[in-house]
Order: sequence, then C-alpha cells, then structure tokens
Amino acid sequence: MSDTTCTVLIPEGIPDPDIERKVFGDSFAVIAPAASSIEEIPADLWRRADAIMGRRHFTYDAGLMKQLERCKLLIRMGVGFDNVDIRTAGELGIAVCNVPDYCTTDVADHAIALMLGFARAILALSASVMENQWRWEQASTLRRLSGSTLGIIGLGRIGTAVAMRAKGLEMKVLFYDPYIREGIDKSLGIGRCYDLRELLGRSDAVSMHVPLTDETRNMADENFFRAMKPGSLFINTARGKIFDSRALYGALKNGHLSAAGLDVWPVEPPPENDPLIKAWRGGEPWIRDRFTLTPHAAFFCKDSWEELRTKAAQEVKRVLKGEKPRACVNEELLINPRYRKLS
Ligand code: NAD
Repeated sequence: MSDTTCTVLIPEGIPDPDIERKVFGDSFAVIAPAASSIEEIPADLWRRADAIMGRRHFTYDAGLMKQLERCKLLIRMGVGFDNVDIRTAGELGIAVCNVPDYCTTDVADHAIALMLGFARAILALSASVMENQWRWEQASTLRRLSGSTLGIIGLGRIGTAVAMRAKGLEMKVLFYDPYIREGIDKSLGIGRCYDLRELLGRSDAVSMHVPLTDETRNMADENFFRAMKPGSLFINTARGKIFDSRALYGALKNGHLSAAGLDVWPVEPPPENDPLIKAWRGGEPWIRDRFTLTPHAAFFCKDSWEELRTKAAQEVKRVLKGEKPRACVNEELLINPRYRKLS
C-alpha cells in the first residue's frame, strides 16, 4: 500500500488539524468533520478510515468497531481509554493506543494545586477580601502540609509525579497499588500499604490516580469515605465514575471530611440536581469553602495540548507505515493485527 492511499479520521473536536498535518506531511489524507456525535459522521468515513484519532467524548463500542473495515489503529488522544471497547478492537485486529505521558506533570500539578488550595485556603481567603473583609483566621481548611501524610491511590505515572511533588513539600507519602512491583517504595522513599483501608485511615489527604476499570468503578463509596481520617481532604483528578458523589456529599455534610477538590465528576458536566452541586452553587454556608470542582481541565495547557496531538499523530504515522505502535493498550487482546498486513 502506498502511503497516499491512507486516510486518517479525526472525528472529535479538532476542526483545524494543522499539527497533525504537519506530522503527516503529504503522506496521508486527514479528515476532521465538525460533528458532535458519532451518528453525525457518515458511515462511509468510518468504513474507509485507516486510522482514527479519537478523544473522550464519543463511545467507541463494538457496534462502531464492526463498521471499521480498514482501520488498523484507533488512538485515544489522551490517557484513559475507558470509552473504547479494546477487546472487540483486538478481536478485529485493530490496535488501540493512547498517549500516556503528554500531561503527567500537568495533572500532578493540578492535584497538588487542589490540595494546596485548601491547605492555604486560597479561594476562601481571596473571596473574603473580595467581600471587603480582612479575616485571615477564618478559613476552616487551613493546615500545615509539612509533616502531614498524603495517601496516593494508583502509583502509575501521575501518582508517582504527585508523590515526588508531595515529598518536595515535606509530606510523608503512602501509596496503595496492588499492581506495582515490590520495592518501588524503597526506590522512591515512600511507604506502601497493601490494604486500602490502612492507607485511608493514616492519610491526611487522599489523592486518586487510578484508571476507570470494573474494579475501580465506584471505588470511593460510603465505606471508603467513612474509612478516611476525620478532617482529611479528598482529591480526585482521575475519573468521575470512581467515586460516588452522594456519598461524598454525606461525608462533607456530616463534617467527617474537611474538604474535597475534584477535576472530574461521574457525569460531566454535572447535573444541576446533584445534591452536592446544588448545595455548592446555592451558596450553602457549610460547603462554601470546602469544595472545588474544575471542568476536567487537569490535562490542559498549550504545551500539553500540542504534545498530545503531535505524539498521537506520530504514533499513527508509525503504525500506518507498518511499524509496531509504542503505546498499545490492547496488545494482549490483539489477534492478527491489521497493521502488520499492510498491502
Ligand atoms: P497509569 O496507567 O500510569 O497509572 C495507573 C495506576 O493505577 C497503575 O499503577 C495501576 O497499577 C493502578 N491501579 C489500577 N487499578 C488499581 C486499583 N484497583 N487500585 C489501586 N491502583 C490501581 O495512568 P496515569 O497516567 O497515572 O493516569 C491515571 C488516570 O488519570 C488515567 O487512567 C486517567 O483516567 C486519569 N487522567 C485524568 C486526566 C485529567 O485531565 N483529569 C488526565 C490524564 C489522566
């Protein structure tokens, strides 16, 4: 197959694929339709795409996969790939890849920023000045981080970057991750908990860095929050569906948790009738300074966005030239990879 016959489909939200075209040169045809749902994209485009560069808003399920007659690679332009049926893709010979490292430091910074925001009460204190007050002693979430303990759940790329930053803040760091090899705690100078409850009971702040899987779905439920140390902070920059927003509401309302800082929500954007969101937006005094929610933005800055698009396009180029992908997430499920049979 000559390169020029390859078509790359970018179905989600990149109306001007200038960065991708720069990587591909004249080699491939790039199609980036302006669509807000999978159904808006003509079936013919799915059928003739040799590679798809998807994001997180569409669901790439078995039904869609089966329409992909020529596709050799579906790249999730991001880290989490919970919106892609990687098993069906594997059975069809379609490699699914992600871009695992484009925003590692940005998300770690965001998690630390959420924690620092409460520890130094930045929002609460600045709001008090805006309201023409000068009350430095009022913020309930103020605390010394140095010497306190951060519990990290999921010690992958981002979790490790958070651990390094927390050590720089002179915090003690614990982690829970049953899939990490023995001894990493010694390499990094942090503590390991083999029992999630032990980590929850010992940590002054807990930060979530697990992917969304069948095992982690709803991981932070009522029992989880109850097991957290009284007065501790809950930070989640991973995925919304790993926590139960009603259980978090209860843990904040009854005062068991001091505060919660999140970048993700079970349904994004959050429904208006969600009790926590309603209380927060309604300015109920008990929640006012104890809750922060950013709009799934931890990954984003100009540098990370450019890195993401460049690396995703480079992976597509490699695979469409018949090379092995670097970040394949369904390698073990991949039967007769199509990219090896380019003709
Ligand atoms: P990673 O794959 O490097 O690390 C994930 C870690 O979680 C692994 O070490 C894994 O062993 C561990 N893990 C899996 N299941 C677990 C369980 N049941 N209990 C404890 N640990 C478990 O991924 P990463 O790059 O660190 O990213 C983590 C997650 O952050 C991603 O999956 C994604 O969902 C999320 N993320 C969010 C944003 C954002 O903008 N908010 C951006 C990037 C990534």
